[in-house]
Amino acid sequence: MVIVMAPHARDADLTEVVRRVETAGGSAFVSRGVTRTIVGVVGDEAVLEAVDVTHVPGVAEVVRITAPYKLVSREHVPRTSTVSVGGVPIGPDTFTLIAGPCAVESAEQTLAAAQLARRAGATLLRGGAYKPRTSPYAFQGLGVAGLRILADVRAETGLPVVTEIVDAADVDTVCQYADMLQVGTRNMQNFSLLQAVGGAGKPVLLKRGLVATYEEWLMAAEYIAQRGNLDIVLCERGIRTAETSTRNTLDVSAVPIVHGLSHLPVIVDPSHAAGRRDLVVPLARAAMAVGADGVIVDVHPDPERALCDGAQALHGAALDELTVAVATIPPLLGRRGAVTAEPVRSR
Ligand code: PEP
Ligand code: MN
Repeated sequence: MVIVMAPHARDADLTEVVRRVETAGGSAFVSRGVTRTIVGVVGDEAVLEAVDVTHVPGVAEVVRITAPYKLVSREHVPRTSTVSVGGVPIGPDTFTLIAGPCAVESAEQTLAAAQLARRAGATLLRGGAYKPRTSPYAFQGLGVAGLRILADVRAETGLPVVTEIVDAADVDTVCQYADMLQVGTRNMQNFSLLQAVGGAGKPVLLKRGLVATYEEWLMAAEYIAQRGNLDIVLCERGIRTAETSTRNTLDVSAVPIVHGLSHLPVIVDPSHAAGRRDLVVPLARAAMAVGADGVIVDVHPDPERALCDGAQALHGAALDELTVAVATIPPLLGRRGAVTAEPVRSR
């Protein structure tokens, strides 16, 4: 259930609404928008039946939400939300490029990757300090040392940092350094981690699970939202199918379908979807065309020597192609494209 407050509603009206919800045994989540305030009510059927706010002054409308996810549903917030990450918007008016190394390997490699990313038009830096690797013998990331490198590179380049968190116990540490917490595909249904990041006070990038349905993905987002954090960006990163030509199969349908179901911004990770450098730019273009709010891509100054996912990392000509695409395609679709540090080369 969502309670929409009238524009003229007073603080006392809102307090009364919250009191009535809580008296009925429900939880009230207040979202203050520019023009109106919305109260999301969470509780079982009996709670929803017992909430009686129709005649409270300042209440404009009471909407029953039929979707199993409530706070993240499109019924809750009709317009796609904009999430601010260190002042950088991800939402319907812009197309945000997030780029950087798959893993932080050293200060030099991370700075070089960030400079490449910034020149390509990226406004946010990605980089993993904790790497959830399939093999326990593969490079696991630098941990706190990697977080420190990311913070140093942010200071040097001005790019806010997006980095993965794999353990709820690391929330405080990662929050000291990161601007956005990434929950990876393997942890999409790690519910204690979702609750921990929900309470951390930082925006969250929630990747779709390897075989997750849209509903499972949105229910995972609801775990974060339920802790009072609606600054969530969803990321389609490819799903497991029978096809072996690519690492995963990018599900482009996810973008318009999930946009229809939820007000959360949706971005695409063409790097982890394809696993192949030659497909990253074509898939990024597809993401733009299908209405994604941004892309997150792997960039490496020397992919042959990368400790993680070098085969999909962009550099050189492929990165130039991405620069052109990000600067030219989103404006055709009514979005602000990337602000490039250098003039865009035409092809
Ligand atoms: C990553 O972005 O570094 C990553 C591990 O991605 P995913 O969780 O999508 O596999
Ligand atoms: Mn990777």
